[in-house]
Amino acid sequence: MDRPLLLIDVDGVISLFGFDPAHPPAGRFLLVDGIAHLISATAGEHLRLLADEFDLAWCTGWEEKANDYLPLALDIPGPLPHVTFDPCERPANAHWKLGGIDAHADQARALAWVDDAHDERCTAWAAARAAPTLLVGTDPAVGLTEKHVERLLAWAREYVGLSLSARRVGRPA
Ligand SMILES: [Mg+2]
Repeated sequence: MDRPLLLIDVDGVISLFGFDPAHPPAGRFLLVDGIAHLISATAGEHLRLLADEFDLAWCTGWEEKANDYLPLALDIPGPLPHVTFDPCERPANAHWKLGGIDAHADQARALAWVDDAHDERCTAWAAARAAPTLLVGTDPAVGLTEKHVERLLAWAREYVGLSLSARRVGRPA
């Protein structure tokens, strides 16, 4: 059985910004193309926990570059699959990530998506998907928290439990 997919944004989820520079969150700086990113101190541990229940994939403007830096920086297995975004296919009425996600994830695949920049178009898209779909929003100054992880794991376990019992009910005697 397919495990649910977890789409992971990087900026605002793992790489933090918008915090008070006098009181930066715990983390360490990672230099990517000359730009310093503050990588959350807890993101690696959180992703390792989430990998128990989800298949992880990057869903970020970093695209394949995420794999050049983050598995090592976060101490998670990699490379991970990543969503690809076509810069020519960004219709004005759709959030810029939705086309890439639809191309990456089959409609029948349950998925959760963690991002700091969901909007009402993402909510409508999630509600219209055929498979269970969960959006988890983050504060870019804080990123992925323990509470988010608990919520995601509970959702994944409930989904897996429900689909197992649906299979048992549907199984011929
Ligand atoms: Mg972001």
